Amino acid sequence: MIAKHSANVENLVIIGSGPAGYTSAIYAARANLRPLVITGFQIGGIAGGQLMTTTFVENFPGFPDGVLGPDLMDLLKAQAVRWGTQLIEADAELVDLSQRPFLIKADQREIQTNSLVIATGAKANRLNLPKEKTFWSRGISACAICDGATPQFHKEELAVVGGGDSACEEAVYLTKYGSHVHLIVRSDQLKASASMASRVLGNSLVTVHWGTELLDVIGTDWLDAILIKKKNTSEIKRLLVRGLFYAIGHTPNTELFHGQLLINKNGYISTEPGRPETSVEGVYAAGDVADSEWRQGITAAGSGCKAALAAERWLSKNNLVQLFERENLEPAQALTPKPTETTTEIDFQSNAIWQKGSYALRKLYHESKNPLIVIYSSPNCGPCHVLKPQLKRVLDELKGKAQCVEIDIQADQQIAKQAGVNGTPTVQLFKNKVLINSWRGVKQRSIFKEAIINLLETNLD
Ligand SMILES: Cc1cc2nc3c(=O)[nH]c(=O)nc-3n(C[C@H](O)[C@H](O)[C@H](O)COP(=O)(O)OP(=O)(O)OC[C@H]3O[C@@H](n4cnc5c(N)ncnc54)[C@H](O)[C@@H]3O)c2cc1C
Repeated sequence: MIAKHSANVENLVIIGSGPAGYTSAIYAARANLRPLVITGFQIGGIAGGQLMTTTFVENFPGFPDGVLGPDLMDLLKAQAVRWGTQLIEADAELVDLSQRPFLIKADQREIQTNSLVIATGAKANRLNLPKEKTFWSRGISACAICDGATPQFHKEELAVVGGGDSACEEAVYLTKYGSHVHLIVRSDQLKASASMASRVLGNSLVTVHWGTELLDVIGTDWLDAILIKKKNTSEIKRLLVRGLFYAIGHTPNTELFHGQLLINKNGYISTEPGRPETSVEGVYAAGDVADSEWRQGITAAGSGCKAALAAERWLSKNNLVQLFERENLEPAQALTPKPTETTTEIDFQSNAIWQKGSYALRKLYHESKNPLIVIYSSPNCGPCHVLKPQLKRVLDELKGKAQCVEIDIQADQQIAKQAGVNGTPTVQLFKNKVLINSWRGVKQRSIFKEAIINLLETNLD
């Protein structure tokens, strides 16, 4: 039984805001369906998806000089919003596909929808090596196809860890860029197909290290070496490589759907070959969550397009569409985030809500009576792209009772060092030169708001 439309029921909910989710949203919004995107927050990675965690994307069509992953995702988001997409910036916590309309819980809300696109992506598995976080994107990568051509890897020795098809393929692929590739295999045999294995074993530019464990990585600004150990020995060897590529599998974000949809033995949502339809009518899957093979931004975007078109057709066929009329046929220009200019002595304003740089920080730190938020960010930091608009919203809601200064840790290294900042985003809250609170990473908006309100209600003078 397919439920009829009612005012409280969405046409289409999209879970996930990677390239698949936002592309679905762009298509559905342009078809006047006013889709609702639940962007994700923490459970399955940050809003904007995996490309928020990388630097330059050089293979997404339309950007001849490459584009920073977080900038690309800001553009996709702006395009989806421009055409009328609604956003809930939270995780979907529960999905019930046994009733129609489908029920989704997110952000303490119950949402009903006639159709659903699942675009929750996948996480590249990590080894959790002691220094892995320090060298992530500084020598360590989970995507040889994406990052192999990076200049730092050119004509250098590289390593791939893993023993399956992906690891073999990546090892061979990387011989195009590196001078030599070491394949670190935990067991004594490859799990790859025979043809793939023979391509590796017959390649003089690849050395396979059998029965070998990867213990840690070493470097300064960039990876210099990996520490490896043969099984059943105690000798730890240092292998000089400038790149380390993980090929130890991906885990698709499908926990919410187990027992409700057909999921294949590797945990990916099963769809009809080359199509977005899942085993439940009206539910579509797009991007990495249903694709263990291609896993690229552009393939995810393409499948997101298919999912939205299929959902639209299905809604129409079942007479479930509620079209939203647009006031203006052509919506206003998209609001893409613009970097804040560094505040100088000339343009400093003692009551501005958001300013940037050391001059504004010095002035407000010493002179402002308001709670002062300092956000330490860096241009390539995806989570900073997620957090800054959230903080701006909090400060707008507080109508000037608190102020913020943004510090780019690359431009103001000394300040970041003095503040003990060792990663971005870091947020510190001050009042009257006293550090009240400090947070690392993306947190819920409400956490910052509550802390500031508490401070406003407490008299520290
Ligand atoms: C380091 C790195 C570099 C890469 N570089 C490139 C590159 O250069 N070029 C390229 O084409 N590809 C690259 N890729 C691959 C590319 O990022 C992925 O193929 C692509 O992002 C997949 O898009 P997606 O929309 O399917 O999923 P994702 O990008 O994984 O997005 C999934 C979304 O779902 C959300 N989500 C998960 N669970 C929930 C939930 N319960 N509720 C709500 N939301 C949820 C997440 O928050 C996220 O927004 C790279 C990947 C990595 C890891």
